[in-house]
Amino acid sequence: MPQSADRVLDHALLFREPGYQELLKNKHENFECPASTAEVEAHNAYTKGWEYREKNLAREALVINPAKACQPLGAVFASAGFEGTLSFVHGSQGCVAYYRSHLARHFKEPASAVSSSMTEDAAVFGGLNNMVDGLANAHSLYGPKMIAVSTTCMAEVIGDDLHAFIGTSKQKGSVPQDFDVPFAHTPAFVGSHVDGYDNMVKGVLEHFWEDKERTANGKINIVPGFDGFCVGNNRELKRMLDLMGVSYTILQDASDQFDTPSDGEFRMYYGGTTLKDTAEALNAKATVSMQRYCTRKVLDYCSDKGQETASFHYPLGVSATDEFVQKIAELAGIAIPDAITIERGRLVDALADSQAMLHGKRYAIFGDPDFVYATARFVMETGGEPVHCLATNGTKPWIEEMEKLLASSPFGKDGKVWAGKDLWHLRSLLFTEPVDYMIGSSYGKFLERDTGTPLIRLTFPIFDRHHHHRFPLWGYQGGLRLVTTIVDKIFDKLDEATGKAGQDISFDLTR
Ligand code: SF4
Repeated sequence: MPQSADRVLDHALLFREPGYQELLKNKHENFECPASTAEVEAHNAYTKGWEYREKNLAREALVINPAKACQPLGAVFASAGFEGTLSFVHGSQGCVAYYRSHLARHFKEPASAVSSSMTEDAAVFGGLNNMVDGLANAHSLYGPKMIAVSTTCMAEVIGDDLHAFIGTSKQKGSVPQDFDVPFAHTPAFVGSHVDGYDNMVKGVLEHFWEDKERTANGKINIVPGFDGFCVGNNRELKRMLDLMGVSYTILQDASDQFDTPSDGEFRMYYGGTTLKDTAEALNAKATVSMQRYCTRKVLDYCSDKGQETASFHYPLGVSATDEFVQKIAELAGIAIPDAITIERGRLVDALADSQAMLHGKRYAIFGDPDFVYATARFVMETGGEPVHCLATNGTKPWIEEMEKLLASSPFGKDGKVWAGKDLWHLRSLLFTEPVDYMIGSSYGKFLERDTGTPLIRLTFPIFDRHHHHRFPLWGYQGGLRLVTTIVDKIFDKLDEATGKAGQDISFDLTR
């Protein structure tokens, strides 16, 4: 084989070397039952048509490439937003390896989480012993200030009771009696990571707030929701709130945990909402959610505790940011400072500069319900048309809200809402009703290759590009980045379409 210490090839080049090509050819011919090229092409052509689309959309018993993850992933992300907190997932190891790798591949940071490593015996007899030993090990080995417990499918199927198990573990001395161990049942076979986030944050709040007296103050809690762009977004959020002079607590802030500096020191825990602030957040005047579909239970709980609540759908662009800023100003009883108004004007100016390029572009958008709502709204603000709006974890109320949004603008008239559909459904939609661009996560790259629809990466997970999450999408400043990202893709496409030497009509230097 051609690989050697003197000539180290990247895998993208290595597997093109003749030795590997021969090996792959033999494998294909002898083990993969190859169909003829003509058969493959005929089937491929059939899957691009309307007949196959209708069969595909009628599919019920199978999900192919869902644009969502399971509940515990959201719980692990949520736990990372609290000071010194170790995520402890009661269930099987493999699941937890998946959450860690998923988060680490997106943020390019270590993502710490432990599991109670349940195996066959625990699945039969219950996982109490795993919890007792696991909490003791996690506490003594990793020195957390808090351990946040969630569950995988396995623990939920057999019905392990976290409240009782944690109580027994404390009695047996796994952790001190007064050590903070909030928990949330996160059954992975219902809902998605956004529900896991909701359950875990609510579990933390219940742990600190239950049976406590509330003395209202003037502060505002902001719950960001599950957000792959939390590093850039939360910092931008804090900058804006500081500029406005608001007294606030970001309730679940993973921006530092997923952006630790490289300076020779490994920080297993870094930043996050302090446990003291989390406890005191009970006294806040109001709790504001940046993503309603990530925080429905949290908002209900805060409301039950006597707080005012308000929620947004991942506010992007001018009008959505306006609503957010106005609501915060109203709750805090302050005027919006000039510095914020000037930022707004700059975003409006940028949108006007790019208007000729953005107007009339047709998009497919996929991701979490709040993100899809926000992006469809932003696209319409630019004169674009959201044609396919798909959220695998979309619900009936989401469909209704989306349809109302699309009906609110002439640019939404061709828009269709696809809840509960997956990326294989989206493939059929893109072939039968093509669009100019697709906005979503890295998982869209296979659709990009297959259908030729350029992909704009704007949501979690982004595995195949670096550093996107470091720059905000929220706020007027975030809007600048948003429009730059979209318009860059439009220009790349235009250059590609016009740049053939000898036929380079409109391959212009000035765009
Ligand atoms: S769906 Fe169930 S088995 Fe799969 S990773 Fe999630 S918890 Fe584990």
